[in-house]
Amino acid sequence: MAFIQSVRGPVATEELGLILPHEHLFTDLRGPQTPGYAEADPEDVRRAMQPLLDAAWAAGVTALVECSTGGVGRNARVLAHLAAHTPLAIVAPTGVYREQYMPAAIRRMDEQALADWMTRDLVEGIDDTGVCAGFIKMAVSDGGITDHERRALAAAARAALATGVVVASHTSGPAAGAHALEELDILESRGLDPGRFIWVHTQNEADREVQRAFARRGGWLSYDALSPAAEDKFVSLVLWALDAGLARQVMLSHDAGWYRPGEPEGGAKRGYTYLVAEFLPRLRREGVSEETIRLLTAENPQRAFAVRAAGERA
Ligand SMILES: [Zn+2]
Repeated sequence: MAFIQSVRGPVATEELGLILPHEHLFTDLRGPQTPGYAEADPEDVRRAMQPLLDAAWAAGVTALVECSTGGVGRNARVLAHLAAHTPLAIVAPTGVYREQYMPAAIRRMDEQALADWMTRDLVEGIDDTGVCAGFIKMAVSDGGITDHERRALAAAARAALATGVVVASHTSGPAAGAHALEELDILESRGLDPGRFIWVHTQNEADREVQRAFARRGGWLSYDALSPAAEDKFVSLVLWALDAGLARQVMLSHDAGWYRPGEPEGGAKRGYTYLVAEFLPRLRREGVSEETIRLLTAENPQRAFAVRAAGERA
């Protein structure tokens, strides 16, 4: 039985519909050295975020993937408290953000120690919370993949192989496409199937031929900054991808949210309903079929985030 690993436990994919594969609930971009980093009263966070979660559920969202990873505020206790107050399945990450945000303890670990740490988060639970991560979220620097990031990615591949989860990596900047291909090289060198890798922020690569080359190798394209202001850009991108035969490798999300510790009531927030309320109706007007919409918004993320048994391929 295919399942995703949510904060509340495994959920059968057939119980799920639309999934948002790249959002944020609780994020701290001040860096792990900042006093009060990633700290907040879970009930304060719930009070601020509940309306956004309720609206997403009402719109038909069944699961939301929290992409705030190690170094940018991951807090399993907060996620567990939110998950206890919404029917939405929330998927939590293990992994670590790009080098600038890496906690000192992570920088000191070698590849095996990093892989062991991620595997523990995925199998036993994060810290002492009993909350299991459901995927691995990484990131690489815009200027090029650093040695620390390379080691952490290799470790992510090992942990993903050991546990069957998917690896997603924030990859942006002027050479995003080249970096995404390089990340695939690193992951494949450790034996990971490219179908277990999500190129986060694919839209940042202007050269669509690079996107196509990445997809030909089997990776996932994540168009994940949907917003009213960028609607035409994303419509054009999605129509191109469908025309290019990539419908089975594209996912859609907002990169929205989120509660910011240290700001009154968590600061300004963006909700998670634009995709359903406005973007999908626009795609329908552009002639995209219901079957394809289901593929992009439900079946693809269900397949991407399904935890695979050892040796199982898509
Ligand atoms: Zn994000």
